[in-house]
Amino acid sequence: GYQRVLEENRKLYNQVQDLKGNIRVYCRVRPLVPGHSNTSVDHIDERTISILTHSKYGKEAKKSFTFNKIFGPSVTQAEVFSDTQPLIRSVLDGYNVCIFAYGQTGSGKTHTMTGPKELTEEGLGVNYRALADLFHLSKERKETISYEISVQMLEIYNEQVKDLLSADEIRNSSQNGINVPDANLVRVSSPSDVINLMDLGHKNRSVCSTALNDRSSRSHSCLTVHVQGKDLTSGNILRGSMHLVDLAGSERVDKSEVTGDRLKEAQHINKSLSALGDVISSLASRSSHVPYRNSKLTQLLQDSLGGQAKTLMFVHIAPEYEALGETLSTLKFAERVATVELGAAKVNKDSGEVKELKEQIASLKAALARKE
Ligand code: ADP
Ligand code: MG
Repeated sequence: GYQRVLEENRKLYNQVQDLKGNIRVYCRVRPLVPGHSNTSVDHIDERTISILTHSKYGKEAKKSFTFNKIFGPSVTQAEVFSDTQPLIRSVLDGYNVCIFAYGQTGSGKTHTMTGPKELTEEGLGVNYRALADLFHLSKERKETISYEISVQMLEIYNEQVKDLLSADEIRNSSQNGINVPDANLVRVSSPSDVINLMDLGHKNRSVCSTALNDRSSRSHSCLTVHVQGKDLTSGNILRGSMHLVDLAGSERVDKSEVTGDRLKEAQHINKSLSALGDVISSLASRSSHVPYRNSKLTQLLQDSLGGQAKTLMFVHIAPEYEALGETLSTLKFAERVATVELGAAKVNKDSGEVKELKEQIASLKAALARKE
């Protein structure tokens, strides 16, 4: 009875909150690496994740974070996609969408966006599913709107943009003062076209890596999908775009231990990830100045972040206890980009603590009353 009404209300409330903001944060926890049993993840529910930390006094302490959605280790690729699908479909209505995968190296970013190394049907990541869905939906609408879909694949490494669909370095041409990379834009018309292109992109990307030097974890890769739709009755054109970004690993590098190229890479990654965080949090707080200029990544995405654009950040958690430091810094980053739009969700989190404090006060009062 009453409990159910409360539950319904809470759901409705959460849905309204979800609709309110154009910035969403989903948190995904990958399974423990086999052989590991120590975990920092204490508890996961639909919107809250609690992490075990140590307090100053060596005691275990818990810290909770609330986001739009939490995906636990057993959540499948299909389930993750089904919560992403509405956003992707809005591209065909002329929206700009950016989806980011954030997290330390090994936390599951590529798994979410592309899938595991040995790709199976069930393993397909957001990138493939998104494109397949766009093709499917555009066919459904073909009586009313004629769509053209094309893709670009870029890599940003040390603040340099490289075209993964050609061997050339990219020069930026400026249109209306906005940086538009002269990258290959390839028309696609089926999921197999996309798979072939992504294979090519991945090959071009790995040319620059060696076994000991996996560059992919230290560069951002960006699959951009451009959609143009022509209304067959009015002749009106609508344009939408989607950026699917597998970010460089967010782990902090110990500056005392790296030198030369590694240090330079670490500094570039640091700079661009904090620039991204700054842009998203200033969009979330509706600040009048959005600092797009501070990195290549944010410059590249300038037109697709902010305004009516929709942004989704997947933050990835490695659940092993050894990763605790990075896990907390990832969650803090995520909280910073989500905090303002999720103001109400934050209240939910606080209300747990407030409830606990109230209970403590009540029991202290009771103890006091017994003494009197
Ligand atoms: P990243 O891109 O963040 O460096 P990966 O996506 O390469 O991390 O993931 C590291 C390893 O963990 C890979 O072997 C990947 O297949 C596996 N993995 C990541 N997330 C999941 C998941 N949700 N379920 C199963 N395996 C996962
Ligand atoms: Mg990766």
